[in-house]
Amino acid sequence: MTTPRVIYEAKPGSPLEVNREFYGRLARETGRRRLVESFVVPRRSGRAWPVAAGHLVRIVAVEGSQVADLNVWNLANPRERFWASRTRQLHSAHMTTFDRLWSCLPYLRPMLTITADTVAYGRDADGAGCHDLLGTRCDPYVHRLLNGEEFDLCCHSNLVRAVAPYHLDEMDVHDVLNVFQVTGLTPDGRYFVKASPARRGDFIEFFAEIDVLCAISVCPHGDLSVPVWGPNAADALSVCRPLGVEIWEPARELLESWASPAPSAYRGRHGLRGPE
Ligand SMILES: [Zn+2]
Repeated sequence: MTTPRVIYEAKPGSPLEVNREFYGRLARETGRRRLVESFVVPRRSGRAWPVAAGHLVRIVAVEGSQVADLNVWNLANPRERFWASRTRQLHSAHMTTFDRLWSCLPYLRPMLTITADTVAYGRDADGAGCHDLLGTRCDPYVHRLLNGEEFDLCCHSNLVRAVAPYHLDEMDVHDVLNVFQVTGLTPDGRYFVKASPARRGDFIEFFAEIDVLCAISVCPHGDLSVPVWGPNAADALSVCRPLGVEIWEPARELLESWASPAPSAYRGRHGLRGPE
């Protein structure tokens, strides 16, 4: 057996190492920001909303424990969207403050940077963490597969309905960040979840590096304290709660040292040689 080795290691000064002073100040100086918009997303539903570059967005457990599935697109170009698996490799299987949500190829730039995470779960005795990138959204096809039932309120479907007003559809929905969701792998490598540790008032906050469209599904499985599949499966409606969303505009002087990131500068064209 050889020793485990973190593979995606960055050189000093890379965009993986965020300016903690800058983002920490943005998070701390809450008196120097203006509320742009806030709304509540009802239980078992979804909603999409734009966030301007330079603004902050919070997802808040307004009534208590509840899991959310988050998707993110470049507002001007939905082909550029959140890339969960690369983000997992660049940062961690579970996200927290100062981690960034990266976009897919051929863009590969930070779309959002996490500025605050009041859950701050860390890593528990089972190796589990919160704000999960190991798994993905629940969907009606896997419900049909495992339970043999038709269910239209899965996170995948909630996201499909949420993005329809933005002329996006099922093919635009992608692998998610499972906000407030605690997961891990068993010793034999099987994906597990635990009941969400989020409590009323807990939030995760993101800084928008580019203009984005965000969408969440308020998971129909609520706080994940009730088994969804298997012999003990039951309806989780009693542990489903709404989530709040707040969009904030920080004072302009707090952003003086910040510039919106450009897409990847790679121009090699994969070695293709075509007509010049
Ligand atoms: Zn779900």
